[in-house]
Amino acid sequence: MMKVINTISEIASYLSTFKSNGKKIGFVPTMGALHFGHLSLIKTSKENNDITVVSIFVNPTQFNDKQDFIKYTREPEEDLNKLIETDCDLVFMPSEKEMYPDTFNTKFELGYFESIMEGKFRPGHFQGVALIVDKLFSIIKPDNAYFGQKDFQQLAIIKQLVKITNSAVNIISCPIVRESNGLAMSSRNKRLSAQEFEEAAIIYSTLKQLKDFIKDNKLNEFKIWATKQINSNNLLKTEYIEIVDSESLKIVTDLQNHKSITCCIAVFCGEVRLIDNIQINL
Ligand code: AMP
Repeated sequence: MMKVINTISEIASYLSTFKSNGKKIGFVPTMGALHFGHLSLIKTSKENNDITVVSIFVNPTQFNDKQDFIKYTREPEEDLNKLIETDCDLVFMPSEKEMYPDTFNTKFELGYFESIMEGKFRPGHFQGVALIVDKLFSIIKPDNAYFGQKDFQQLAIIKQLVKITNSAVNIISCPIVRESNGLAMSSRNKRLSAQEFEEAAIIYSTLKQLKDFIKDNKLNEFKIWATKQINSNNLLKTEYIEIVDSESLKIVTDLQNHKSITCCIAVFCGEVRLIDNIQINL
């Protein structure tokens, strides 16, 4: 039977029994509106832990855009049904008051990682992410926590968070799950019209062309071509496209001395902001 818990005190005491019995806890933090991307993380966790905890919490502090927060899809009933089908053990669904009883004022030293791409275009976003993940880790105390490569930069931020807080949580990155047209699955896709959903497939089909450009070291050319290609569709507007080293996230202008590169992109489809990336090992 799947258990749903809403309070910090209850989940902490429930899990402490597991911990003291030496059981491994896997954790998948989410903001709900669950799709197969989330479910793949849960499946991986179930294979490698004794108990899997999924949290559903639309975290207000990571939204730099108030409208995005208000319009974020919330469908707790559907989510719980999907989690039952996936055989999830435990769901943590706290209220806003439970997670943020007081004002908060934490500044995490995320350094360079929050100065580029998502960090640059969504000021404060990663501080909010770090704040909620840090809180959730200290409540759940997982052995392993699962994050999707869809949010490539977020993974780097979480690894940095674990480093600066001396956390013992093992961070596991999981591959991007896509729709049949190639669009990366996202809770925000639920806000796209049928036509937008189809047209947004051009984001990934464009990213896949990177391998043809890197043969001749044409990284800048690719960024220019890809932006044009995507923006030529009048439903889409590229916010940024960047090619970075997959480990350091430093911007790559020349392929020499890099083992792996990742091309990251953010595109507005109407008012819905979509992100995607492609990693190429050299
Ligand atoms: P979110 O609910 O959007 O905060 O996502 C919760 C977790 O699911 C994060 O670790 C995401 O990176 C991951 N995730 C979201 N979409 C996908 C996807 N299409 N494939 C794999 N993981 C995903």
